[in-house]
Amino acid sequence: MAELTVCTPLRIERAAVRPALRGVRLVRIGLGPSRAARRSAPEADRTGPLAVLGVAGGVAAHVRPGDVVVADEVRGPDGTIRCPSAPLLAGGLRRAGLRVHVGPLLSLPPTAAPADLSALAGTDVLAVDQETAAVAAVAGTRPFAAVRVVTDTAGAPLLRPGIVGRGVRALRTLAVVAPVLREWAAAAGPREVLLASPRSFCAGVDRAIEIVERALQRYGAPVYVRRQVVHNAHVIARLERLGAVFVPEVDDVPRGATVVLAAHGVAPQVRADAAARRLTVVDATCPLVGKVHAEVRRYAGRGDTVLLVGHHDHEEVVGTVGEAPGAVLVVADAQEARTVTVPDARRVAYVMQTTLSLDEASEVSGVLRERFPSVAAPRSDDICYATSNRQEALRAVAAECEVVLVVGSANSSNSRRLVEVAERAGVPAHLVDDVGEVVPAWLVGAARVGVTAGASAPPQLVDELVDCLSGLGPVTVRERGDVVEDIRFTLPKEVS
Ligand code: SF4
Repeated sequence: MAELTVCTPLRIERAAVRPALRGVRLVRIGLGPSRAARRSAPEADRTGPLAVLGVAGGVAAHVRPGDVVVADEVRGPDGTIRCPSAPLLAGGLRRAGLRVHVGPLLSLPPTAAPADLSALAGTDVLAVDQETAAVAAVAGTRPFAAVRVVTDTAGAPLLRPGIVGRGVRALRTLAVVAPVLREWAAAAGPREVLLASPRSFCAGVDRAIEIVERALQRYGAPVYVRRQVVHNAHVIARLERLGAVFVPEVDDVPRGATVVLAAHGVAPQVRADAAARRLTVVDATCPLVGKVHAEVRRYAGRGDTVLLVGHHDHEEVVGTVGEAPGAVLVVADAQEARTVTVPDARRVAYVMQTTLSLDEASEVSGVLRERFPSVAAPRSDDICYATSNRQEALRAVAAECEVVLVVGSANSSNSRRLVEVAERAGVPAHLVDDVGEVVPAWLVGAARVGVTAGASAPPQLVDELVDCLSGLGPVTVRERGDVVEDIRFTLPKEVS
């Protein structure tokens, strides 16, 4: 990839970033749009990432002096230019400890700029400068970034005491921004994105989210939800905005209110506790988790010891154990399968957590079958269709990629298993809640990137990730996998 070019309007801005950008082409474009247009014109004939770095006036009320604004679009007299990789860059700046905002940056000539920045309040513009639009106009298809550190706002104008201190602080912040920009630029280049298919929401997650939405419509906010209804931070934040209140236990729900039980299932004791508080219960337990509960009841009811292959302390496992606490033993891995002791080796059954790794589960069940030849097991595997499909699709993708990105939250079991699938295939893999967590260094030299998402991760997060990668250079996208999922589960009567 060709070298990074960084444009700074002022000499002092260039001096501030120079130590961190040794060896990088620095262009001083001068103050004002005309100078910037003239001095950045030769950039139209060059290649490689191009960036504007400098100070600016903050417009939005939440933008304070010293904050960093990363433009997701640059608006100027001649139109708007998108900057798709802004969230990636912003993530790096946040990890560097800076307070960062992503949004529109407005470039205005001094004659059009209002004397008082508050005149722009009420628009969605975060900050205003004079030069960035002129540089963005010559960027063409080059990866482009604009980062501005705020020196003045409507409440802290330029020509007021304190500007010198704010200016010095802004220059120090620019020095922190510079190496992050360099890391971003190192990841620039053309690449292919292989999208594992299927990925993202499964039928159980779709149903659980719809249950909360419908409960809110039917019963009105707030609707209480015991634990995270599905393990994804973005889903939870959105439902909270709609009026859902997430609580650790049904004891935290006011008597007589409505409570939704999460997709991972609960022990019967939780239902009993909810009934004791006279709660209206809407059960979002995935029917495939419910199937495993039924298996446990059946095996335990006939006197078997039930070995539950799964992760200790995972909510689904805790709920399943609760069906027959005296009869269920959790077996986390092959080692535990080799050492678990049961009262009667002829009366043993096993069931599985729905979101296990296929490879690990088959290893553990192999050990159990060897140790307990008459062990009973469900006719079909408990690992659900969504987990299996996502793992198999990713296995094929990983074989062709240099790195894999899995979109999902850290507490999502099936998302973490996807990372393991890629790693077992010998490919570095990273779990990210969203694009802001992608570290550009992971992408350096990666011409083919595999992307998937756990069953609880919203599909638009994948779209945002792919869009963001296109800010690093041309991207071609290929879907990989031909399994079509058309499973739908019916809704409980309380919300149907
Ligand atoms: S991952 Fe499987 S078990 Fe879990 S909610 Fe989705 S379909 Fe149900």
